Amino acid sequence: MYSAYWGHTRRFNAYPDYMKKKLGGRVQKLTIDAGFSCPNRDGTKGTGGCTFCLNDAFNPSYCTPDKSIARQISEGIAFHATRYKRAEKYLAYFQAFSNTHASVDELAKKYKEALDCEGVIGLVIGTRPDCMDAGKLDLLQNLSQRYHIVVEYGIESVHNKTLQRINRGHSFEDTLEAVKMTANKGIHVGGHLIFGLPGESRQEMLMSANIISQMPLNTIKFHQLQIFKGTAMELEYKSNPGDFILPGENDYLNFMVEYIEMLNPRIVVERIAGETPPRYSVLQPWGPRYDQILVKFEKLLEKRDTWQGRRWQ
Ligand code: SF4
Repeated sequence: MYSAYWGHTRRFNAYPDYMKKKLGGRVQKLTIDAGFSCPNRDGTKGTGGCTFCLNDAFNPSYCTPDKSIARQISEGIAFHATRYKRAEKYLAYFQAFSNTHASVDELAKKYKEALDCEGVIGLVIGTRPDCMDAGKLDLLQNLSQRYHIVVEYGIESVHNKTLQRINRGHSFEDTLEAVKMTANKGIHVGGHLIFGLPGESRQEMLMSANIISQMPLNTIKFHQLQIFKGTAMELEYKSNPGDFILPGENDYLNFMVEYIEMLNPRIVVERIAGETPPRYSVLQPWGPRYDQILVKFEKLLEKRDTWQGRRWQ
């Protein structure tokens, strides 16, 4: 009944199905570090950065800005070829720091270097909502006529009190504005949200589904909060552990089922949880690999006979 109703083949609007429909076949993302900085670290907005941030925790070993973008891409292709079925199409994922934090000319040069690599059919550009303007959007709109271009905004929370507490340096209104401006240009917009940030109740996290549902987002990634060693958040957690809701795997999956039920079925869900290398984690990270977490999540949806958007209004 669920598939007939929303037209999805799974109980949630799953990213691989969407990509297959949109781009045909398997498309591999290749993470690159293009040497950008972040306005919340270099003094443009602040110097301390977001309290949870540790870029090393999600940068693969082959990604370092001292290598050219082309070299990182060819090493990324070789890295993935030894682990997974070889893909024929690739998206260059500008992930580290804020990948629109430069002049339009510099951005154009770096994006072109990636797009000129064989097999690269588009870009995924991770950035902050306050790091976008009309000139950059024109560049991206232009590129999106020929390539698959995605701007992925770190939303992190819809609550300004949380954004302030994690020293994010921008408001949720900034996020709404950036997402709207990007969507209005016909550019694919993704978002990233963290569950478990300090001071947020379960109810506050759940109610964000209504707000996210109304935004013109194409895709969304959800992550449980991971506290990394050496961050300001590690200190905060150690002095105030009661301010954090850090569910175990089962509680988190139950929460995600409730969340997904309230989420607009139009929005493609790219991830429901994150993976962290244990060496970076303050707490023992739960869960095995992401694909196994996803299997458990889908079994739970089936057991409860529910689906994305079942309680969406
Ligand atoms: S999370 Fe992103 S915006 Fe925040 S400090 Fe790190 S790189 Fe900058």
